[in-house]
Amino acid sequence: MTTKRTPPDDLALIQSFASDCPRDGQVQRARDWFHWRPSTAVRCPRALAGKRCRQYHDGDNTCICIQLHYPLLDHAARWITAEGEPILTAEPYDFSGQDFADLVAACNDLGLRVSVNGTSPYFPGRTTLIIIRKAQQ
Ligand SMILES: [Zn+2]
Repeated sequence: MTTKRTPPDDLALIQSFASDCPRDGQVQRARDWFHWRPSTAVRCPRALAGKRCRQYHDGDNTCICIQLHYPLLDHAARWITAEGEPILTAEPYDFSGQDFADLVAACNDLGLRVSVNGTSPYFPGRTTLIIIRKAQQ
């Protein structure tokens, strides 16, 4: 006799996250999982790099935060890590290699580095966490 195994109910897990406002869960999960606290800083790679966000300050839609908003800088947020480091995150649903290459190149030009983490607080199981931080001096 074989024992019937119940497969993990991934869909129910995903739907449980979808039933709430994702932003509320995003903040709580970022606190719980990474010990980050939300920041009200401008959600733009240029702002993280200490430069003016052209969109925020000048209404200039050529700023990197607008040009790369879709699909990469979706659900962008600013945080302060437990170590006090300011970071910018984005949590897109999907993106192409070229999209990602464009972001990495633009961030390199700003002295920023980019990493990817599969543990995404915005919508676990659906979105991917992109972390942008200042390059180490
Ligand atoms: Zn900007």
